[in-house]
Amino acid sequence: MTDLTLTLHPQGRAWVPQFVQAIDGARCIGCGRCFRVCGRGVLALMGVDDAGQHVPMAMGDDEEDGGEYEKKVMTIAHPEDCIGCGACGRICPKKCHTHGARAVED
Ligand code: SF4
Ligand code: SF4
Repeated sequence: MTDLTLTLHPQGRAWVPQFVQAIDGARCIGCGRCFRVCGRGVLALMGVDDAGQHVPMAMGDDEEDGGEYEKKVMTIAHPEDCIGCGACGRICPKKCHTHGARAVED
C-alpha cells in the first residue's frame, strides 16, 4: 500500500491529495465557509440538539427559524466524493479539519 500521488505537468511536481478525514465539532462555529468552497458536496451543516445529537438542517436555517438545536456544526456527509483539494481546511478560521493521504494498492 502507498499513498495516492499525482504528478503535475508540465512542472512534473508530485502532489499528494489531502482528503478530509474529520471535523472537530467542538471547535466548529458553524460558519459554513468550508461548505461554500467545497465543489464536491462532501460537507453538510448539522444542528446539535441539547443532548449532543446531530439534527438535520438546511443551509440558511438559523435559530430564529425555531430550529431544534443548540448550535450548528459542519459534518462530513459524503467522504467518498472528496478529491483531496484541501480548500475546506485552508478557509476554516478555527482549523477544524483533519486531512490525510489515501492509501492505494501498489
Ligand atoms: S478537501 Fe476539497 S473536496 Fe474534500 S471536502 Fe475539502 S473542499 Fe471538499
Ligand atoms: S469553516 Fe470551520 S468553523 Fe466554519 S463551518 Fe467549516 S469547520 Fe466549522
